[in-house]
Formats: sequence, C-alpha cells, structure tokens
Amino acid sequence: MSRKIRLLVVEDEPAIRSGLVDVFVFHGYDVDAAADGPEGLLKASSGKYDLILLDIMLPGVNGLDICERIRQQDREQPIIMLTARSTDEDVIRGLSLGADDYVTKPFSIAQLVLRVQAVLRRARAGVEQATVIRLGDDVTIDTRNLCGTRGSDEISFTRREVEVLQYLHAHSDHPVSREELLAKVWGYSRHMEIETRTVDIHIAKLRRKIEPDAAEPRLLVTIRGAGYRLLKA
Ligand code: CA
Repeated sequence: MSRKIRLLVVEDEPAIRSGLVDVFVFHGYDVDAAADGPEGLLKASSGKYDLILLDIMLPGVNGLDICERIRQQDREQPIIMLTARSTDEDVIRGLSLGADDYVTKPFSIAQLVLRVQAVLRRARAGVEQATVIRLGDDVTIDTRNLCGTRGSDEISFTRREVEVLQYLHAHSDHPVSREELLAKVWGYSRHMEIETRTVDIHIAKLRRKIEPDAAEPRLLVTIRGAGYRLLKA
C-alpha cells in the first residue's frame, strides 16, 4: 500500500488530541482531528478513514452514539474507543455497538500504536477473506456473486445469508451465539432489544439451501446452549 493510512482522532481534550495527532503523524499516518461530537460525527461519516480513534465523553454527541451511527452506515469501519473510565459498562457498550477495541486513559502511546496496528491488520484480513467457501463434498458458495452450487443444483443467496456464512466460516473453530451473529453480522447491540428470531430464520433458510436434509443438518449445526457452528468437511 503506497498511500498513507488515514486516521481520524475524535477527542475534545486539546492536549490529548494534539498529542495523538503528533504521535501518529510521526508514525507515518495521515491524521485528521475533530474536537467535539458533532464535528467527529460529520468527519467519521465521510467514510474516508482507515481507522477512527473515538473518545467516549465528548461535548454535543458522545462517542458511543457516534459509534452506533457509524455502524449503521458501515459495518467494517475500524473504530477504537478511548475511555476515561474503565467502567465495564462503557467498554461493553462500546464493543457491543461495534467498536473493534478500546483503550483506557491514561494509555501508553506504544500500547495504543500496537492496538491501532492490530485492528488495521484484522480489517485488511477481513477484506482478503475467501470469496469462495467450500463445504462438505458438494457445496460451493461464491460470496461475491451471492450464488453457489449444491451438487448439480444452483443456489442463490441474499447478501445477509452470505454474511452469516462468511462470519461462521471465519469463526468455525468455535460455536457462534445468536448474540454474536446479531452484533457482528447485523450490527445490532443488546440494548436495541432486537427480536432474536431473525437469526434463527436466516439459519433455517441457509439450511434449506446448503443441507441435503435441513431437518438433520450436517454442515450448519446447532451446538446446544452455545450457538451455531459451520463444519467445513
Ligand atoms: Ca473527552
């Protein structure tokens, strides 16, 4: 990648804001900054940043609300929350709203730089993830074109169905709970009290498409009390 990585710092405390800008400019990033909630939301919504460092306590619109608004537009935007209090509630809320990670103030700059690099690495790995998923002996799914085959049958998928499959495929080493799917694929958070049948309905639709017998799934299985798991072979 030849262009510089673009970072947005949303932080109302001038000393921290300018400190962060200096550090990341020093590390070779192209850094922009916002000093309050509304400016942060406006800039963050532009979608032009590779990563956003987002303070929680901000004048105007707080960081959690900004995070939620960004997620409604863009599920993939990397976000790291900066929190002054290490209260679990803020952190959990931020992560359930779709932040990739969080850092508690006062933070070590070296730590923060490492966390930023890790989140960017994961984001890039996501982009490069497999476009063709193969399951069992005879199921192939083309995630880019939302279609596939089971034996000689052609199957078509909705965007959301493919996203569910991609998520389960990328996390096939463990059962994935409904809540995790809602949070990661739908971008919903617990406090929105979304009706959870939506996950079950998608799973049932997927089974009818990829399983030889949807009543006895062998690829997309239920792990009782834990969630769903995609078995590759
Ligand atoms: Ca603040």
